[in-house]
Amino acid sequence: MKSFALNYANHSAKDIWAFVCKQLRSSMGAATYRCWIAPLKCAGFDGSALVLSCPTKFIADWVEGHYLSKIKDSLPTEISDVKFVVGKVVAQAEPVVSEPVSSEPVQQVIDFGDYQPTISSKIDSRYKFESFVVGSSNQIAAAAAKRIAESKVVPGLNPLFLHAGVGLGKTHLMHAVANQLAQTHPELNVIYLSAEKFLHMFIRSLRDKKSLEFKEELRAADILMIDDFQFIAGKESTQDEFLHTFNALVDSGKQLVVSCDRFPSDFENISERMRSRLSSGLVLEIEPADYELRLEILKTKAAAMDIQIPEEVLEFLASKITSNIRELEGALNRVFARAVLVSEEISVENAKLWVADLLKIKVKQAGLAEIKNLVVEHFEISEQQIFSKSRLQKVARARQVAMYLARQATEKSLPEIGKYFGGKDHTTVMHAIRRVEELAISDSATQNDLEVLTKKLKSC
Ligand code: ADP
Ligand code: MG
Repeated sequence: MKSFALNYANHSAKDIWAFVCKQLRSSMGAATYRCWIAPLKCAGFDGSALVLSCPTKFIADWVEGHYLSKIKDSLPTEISDVKFVVGKVVAQAEPVVSEPVSSEPVQQVIDFGDYQPTISSKIDSRYKFESFVVGSSNQIAAAAAKRIAESKVVPGLNPLFLHAGVGLGKTHLMHAVANQLAQTHPELNVIYLSAEKFLHMFIRSLRDKKSLEFKEELRAADILMIDDFQFIAGKESTQDEFLHTFNALVDSGKQLVVSCDRFPSDFENISERMRSRLSSGLVLEIEPADYELRLEILKTKAAAMDIQIPEEVLEFLASKITSNIRELEGALNRVFARAVLVSEEISVENAKLWVADLLKIKVKQAGLAEIKNLVVEHFEISEQQIFSKSRLQKVARARQVAMYLARQATEKSLPEIGKYFGGKDHTTVMHAIRRVEELAISDSATQNDLEVLTKKLKSC
């Protein structure tokens, strides 16, 4: 089989990053892309990793915490890693491919101060009701969103609380509401904010002593949509802010739509008042898509990409990639990249190779407790030790490996992993992951540990 390395050999790091950006823009949506990926610049290669420079540590941490796997998914298989550097890059990176990437001038790093998102919502025009494929798992949520888009405020549906796991269409539906209203009621003030953007703007408004203006702007919405509420919910200050805004809006008869990865009742750290507010309208769940819906979505997307994919390949993907629609799209993008960029034959055999890592779904479903158990046993340490603050080398290494595996094998966020392993913060987790990634290259004992543990994890 031809490998990507051959085909990328004539491309610079910058070209590869441009290709990745293109994929990310279409897979993550323009708003998120603009907010988090556009500020990143490719600084080159350091031998094995694509080096991205970020204007601030905040952006670096956020992107690493939220989008790293997405970025990695879009990279050619030969480039296994991505590194983030903050600020201007001084050292020239080493080339990884035959064309000397290091001859590229290092990009100027943009100044975060210039990067001023306004409250005007960036809506992805591709996310429409027309492009949302409806099946039994999402039809009620889609119908509710449509009602809101048609009638603006729907009493029984206010607030509408959309609950679904990652990649099941929450963001798509909210953008669809905004897109439709922009057409039919351009006079309405529709505000859509991702949690990232909400937090970002909230923090900035505090910094600039403009929190009053920020509040006013939010409260001037006719329809306010807040995406990925789970990122806001745990934070006391923003939670209060949101609750006030929420009350003000609902009291004045404005529509609120909130998306979240869990039910209001599943939050540990929100106030009772907030919980009951969130549940006071309609709480709807989008369930994982069944086979028919997955196949239909693949067909629709393949048609939109203008690519002919044999039915059996689509059926293969729909039957094997079951976790969420985003992964399904990721798989389709791989097929697209291989077929279009490298002109490889689109067959089930080839597709199996291209999406092999996405098929390791069993590993993805391991829980933190399984990982902890395996690591404790493997490193012969106690449970107390792994949760402790001990810096004993053996214990610290075991904890780092556990955090690394948790990131690889579960859908948990960095803060969640940190919290589980003894209340560490997300930067500790990030440091641990980076350390293990380095050791995985330089240290054969760690390589062996990872190999053994990954094998065991797969058979969990
Ligand atoms: P979430 O916000 O729930 O994590 P998204 O709305 O971002 O998920 O969806 C992930 C990707 O899957 C998006 O590109 C979206 O367009 C696509 N998607 C999800 N559900 C559907 C659907 N029913 N029909 C078409 N595309 C979908
Ligand atoms: Mg989303």
